[in-house]
Amino acid sequence: MDTQNLMLIDPHIHMTSRTTDDYERMRKAGIVAIIEPAFWLGQPRTEVGSFKDYYSSLVGWERFRASQFGIKHYCTIGLNSKEANNEALAEQVMELLPLFVYKEGVVGVGEIGYDDQTQAEDKYYRLQLELAKETNMPVQIHTPHRDKKSGTIRSMEVSLEHGIAPDMVIVDHNNEETVKDVLDRGFWCAFTIYPNSKMGNERMVEIVKQYGSERIIVNSAADWGISDPLSVPKTASLMLERGISLEDVRKTCYQNALDAFGKSGQMHESDWLTPNNVDQREKFSDNSVLRGGQTPKVGDMGADEGEFGSNIVR
Ligand SMILES: [Zn+2]
Repeated sequence: MDTQNLMLIDPHIHMTSRTTDDYERMRKAGIVAIIEPAFWLGQPRTEVGSFKDYYSSLVGWERFRASQFGIKHYCTIGLNSKEANNEALAEQVMELLPLFVYKEGVVGVGEIGYDDQTQAEDKYYRLQLELAKETNMPVQIHTPHRDKKSGTIRSMEVSLEHGIAPDMVIVDHNNEETVKDVLDRGFWCAFTIYPNSKMGNERMVEIVKQYGSERIIVNSAADWGISDPLSVPKTASLMLERGISLEDVRKTCYQNALDAFGKSGQMHESDWLTPNNVDQREKFSDNSVLRGGQTPKVGDMGADEGEFGSNIVR
């Protein structure tokens, strides 16, 4: 894997479910910043307090944990579409959201949108679009896996209905069937690269060949399921190998994510360009990432292509 030392951003990854090994490998592969959208936990929450603690960890412990491996961590805050269907709980979560959207490192309202396209999902999607509008925050949209095309178009139309500018909306989980609709309407068009099939990356290469790099964004959406936190660097590497220009790779795997979520005013390139060495002696609420007498790493955790390249199995 050779990404020609590009700095990379993964703008959709659920690090809460990943290990410190992942953080180390991601940093070595060139990832300098990530965005962690708020979503469900694999099983439904039963209390509003679970949401509160989860949001707190996204702006607290997880942000600290990433910093210990040289990665800048940002998040989006929202009520995910699956759990919008528990209306009694959803009402309470809506009251929590304004307490978190203004926190440091929050770059949008997300991931929100439709799952089964129920009435309750529609209601809370619209309410959260209003929250995004009030706070002038970008919106990160999760599009449904069933009825993908109609769900994607509906997500965009509803956001327009609420007066949100397309350049404030990142539409996620696109594919060959939806890319044109999203680009034609002026929205940011994000793609999740699922592992398991090398086709995941190959298809992305074809999309960039066909549509170019404008408003196209690559992410991994890695979580606790079968997923790959190195999807962005692997795709960047494959694009270069297939003759896509360095500039197009830089835009789809770095700059576009920064431009889109940078509209929050919470994410700046200077956040990771200024020398910011890792110090694993640091603690967060008395807790560090070290266990059982490990030696803290102090200093630069930057990309190490040589060592990293040889460890990669594609
Ligand atoms: Zn997600």
